[in-house]
Amino acid sequence: MKKAFALILGMAFLSIACTAPKVQPVDNANSQLADDEKRYWQETAKDQEILDKTGFILENPEVENYLQEVMDSLIAPGTTGNVYYKIKIIKDPAINALSFPNGVICIHTGMLARFENEAQLAAVMAHEAIHAKNRHGLAKWRDLKSRSAIYASMGLGSAGAYTGGLISAMGTLSLAYSVAGFSRELEQEADEQGFALMVQAGYAPGECVKAFKHLKQWAKENESKEPYFFGSHPALDDRITNFNRLVRQHRGNGQAGITNQEKYTAIIRELILLNASLNLDEGHFKFAEKEVRHYLELVPDSGAAHCLLGEICLERNEEGDLKKAGDFFLQAIKLSPAFAPSHRGLGTVYLKQDQCQSAKTCFEDYLALLPEARDKAYLDQYIEECAR
Ligand SMILES: [Zn+2]
Repeated sequence: MKKAFALILGMAFLSIACTAPKVQPVDNANSQLADDEKRYWQETAKDQEILDKTGFILENPEVENYLQEVMDSLIAPGTTGNVYYKIKIIKDPAINALSFPNGVICIHTGMLARFENEAQLAAVMAHEAIHAKNRHGLAKWRDLKSRSAIYASMGLGSAGAYTGGLISAMGTLSLAYSVAGFSRELEQEADEQGFALMVQAGYAPGECVKAFKHLKQWAKENESKEPYFFGSHPALDDRITNFNRLVRQHRGNGQAGITNQEKYTAIIRELILLNASLNLDEGHFKFAEKEVRHYLELVPDSGAAHCLLGEICLERNEEGDLKKAGDFFLQAIKLSPAFAPSHRGLGTVYLKQDQCQSAKTCFEDYLALLPEARDKAYLDQYIEECAR
């Protein structure tokens, strides 16, 4: 079904003529959709519908409400015609954000986990909000003449850190914007007007530079040729220079203003651990370990975090990792005896060390805590073999 969807979408592009009059920003007096724009909204609505159904959206009312408050402080609700800003969180470790034409803005957990404060987040949200308000998606939609052009603009095959599932879920169109961004001119417009929104809301202007530097650092560590959200490397450097110029032009030293670091950290905290496990799933051990260690600075006695460190060692399986994994699981059990996965992890370590009886006891403890565990049948069989 996903393939068919992409195909239909591709055919829709083949029939688009390349006429690109400059579109006006949306406000209450100017919210009428052009005929082809209605079609464009329908196409992206399909992408959103699929995305909503795939399980990539994180449902966490506390974090969602918080992000929505930040958004509403940047642009007052009810002032942008039929664009209604709504924030969604995507479970994906790539540092990325994207906007849909109807005002839905998706922020990845990777970005939330990496950013240090609310002001950095506000910088990205304001940028994305301008893409929607100024109808940049429509401009790009009118420009893209064929599906192959979309793929070319996405740099698929080389970009790579996206999970395959998310690519299918998001559909070609939305992913094209997400990965490749818009033209340099439109990105600059979003940067400058987004910066103005952020400053107007009282945020510390210099934090937008730090937000971009985080992305640059991540792209470097990830050896990603095309970091999402911000376009390519040279463009990224130019944009940091441009932000520095905007900050200098702003009165004051760029540091004064809201950052809400403590509030941000308190609300985002659990997402750091969640994102670490997403990084582990993708085999990004370095990112995963760094995030768990960051989380442990905030919550030093977390059994779940120690368990995750154990799982990272188990998966990485380098010299000495098995021993380290065992130590982490033991520590995790000491801190949170009722956290089932630590018992399973320790059992796996014993299993690999050929300590059959100890492994059996751990798996029994795990199943006692989690009788409905998905791997119950497999572990039951193992326990039975051990008993012989
Ligand atoms: Zn952008």
